Amino acid sequence: MKKRIGIIGGGIIGTATAYFLSKYPDAEITLFEKSSIGSGTTAKSAATFCLIDDSVSHEFWSVRLFGFNFYTRLENQFPGSTGFEKTGTLTICPYREYELYVKQAISLTLASDYKAEYWTDAERIHKIIPDINLDGVLGAGWCPDDGFFDATMTANTLARICREAGVKIYTETKVTQICTSGSKVTGLETTKGHFDFDVVVDASGPWARHVAQLVGVKLPIWHTKAEVFILEPTEKLGYNFPVLKYPRFYARKDKDNVFICKSHQSMDLNNPMHAGFWDPDLLPMTGGTDPYFWDFLTEQLMDVYPRLLESSIVNEWVGYRAEPPDFLPVLGPTPVEGYILAAGAGGNGVIEAPTIGRDLASFIMEGNKSWYLDRLPLSRLDNLKYDDTGRLISKPEIVIK
Ligand SMILES: Cc1cc2nc3c(=O)[nH]c(=O)nc-3n(C[C@H](O)[C@H](O)[C@H](O)COP(=O)(O)OP(=O)(O)OC[C@H]3O[C@@H](n4cnc5c(N)ncnc54)[C@H](O)[C@@H]3O)c2cc1C
Repeated sequence: MKKRIGIIGGGIIGTATAYFLSKYPDAEITLFEKSSIGSGTTAKSAATFCLIDDSVSHEFWSVRLFGFNFYTRLENQFPGSTGFEKTGTLTICPYREYELYVKQAISLTLASDYKAEYWTDAERIHKIIPDINLDGVLGAGWCPDDGFFDATMTANTLARICREAGVKIYTETKVTQICTSGSKVTGLETTKGHFDFDVVVDASGPWARHVAQLVGVKLPIWHTKAEVFILEPTEKLGYNFPVLKYPRFYARKDKDNVFICKSHQSMDLNNPMHAGFWDPDLLPMTGGTDPYFWDFLTEQLMDVYPRLLESSIVNEWVGYRAEPPDFLPVLGPTPVEGYILAAGAGGNGVIEAPTIGRDLASFIMEGNKSWYLDRLPLSRLDNLKYDDTGRLISKPEIVIK
């Protein structure tokens, strides 16, 4: 008999999980998306995929590499299907620790047969972006091979491949209840009726804390605000804009304009301007930004890239990143048998989705627990302490490798 698997959420993580599960002939897969495929956080993403990048530590290099190879293979197989733009990434190093990190990323990139260089010569850096200020900068990493994807397009490509492989996908279908018998999952109640399942995967992104409550699981996941501003320079920049990374913000091209956002790693869960827990259903597709974030970015740009301030803001939006306190995803089994988490991918879900999907599929269908699942179980967050208002007062020890 086939294993019946229900997936909640059709973002990049839900569709990647369905894709890898569909490789198993004994899996019968149904995915539920309450809106349209890739319309949640996935639609708001920068979807940068940089081989030189501080957003996922080097401990997770294999996760980054597998993801990058997976998407580029998909793009080669179905040209245009992931919206990949190979712009390269320029990572500016303003201090020694960051420089060491970037140099290590360059070694890893080269060892993986991609190109990367470290430059201390201002002229080289200015050949990529002529008008950034390099005062006090130690150097910059340059990787010409990477860039950014279109995460919604990619999720829809994965959904199409899944449908062709027999996965049932219900859009405009909300999961309203997770059914259990004893402490085991038996099915899902949805706006299109009841479905029986042996396993349920929760890939509901920033909704995961609400969804987990349906089955009595408490998820220590907060939202950090990802506020995006699309800048249209008054005078065209006149060069190919790469992904540009600083420790506290990043930018990439958006057609002829520039997409700019505060970096994920610079968010603080205890700062109410950065983080909290809100209802993602109330988040508009565009608008809703706080002056705080624009002021922050203005200050950064004044220092390092004043020319970009000669722009108008042509679009802006807010996304909620789903963040556990150690900024790492929560994956695999829970105390409720058959209820599996693919949650808390925060600011790195595009990078992580292929590995999450591959490893969860192997766990569900073959019982294999990869090192990645072993490293990121829900139980690692068991000993957190909260105050009366539910705010976190202790954080897990974060091991930076
Ligand atoms: C501004 C911004 C920039 C980012 N930049 C990057 C980047 O450069 N690189 C990177 O790797 N990551 C980046 N991220 C993070 C990345 O976009 C997310 O981690 C990723 O999209 C999360 O995918 P997901 O599938 O978990 O969630 P989502 O895309 O939110 O999908 C969850 C889905 O579940 C559905 N759902 C929820 N509840 C139910 C229910 N009850 N029934 C049915 N369906 C339900 C929702 O409608 C939603 O479509 C960025 C995020 C933002 C906001």
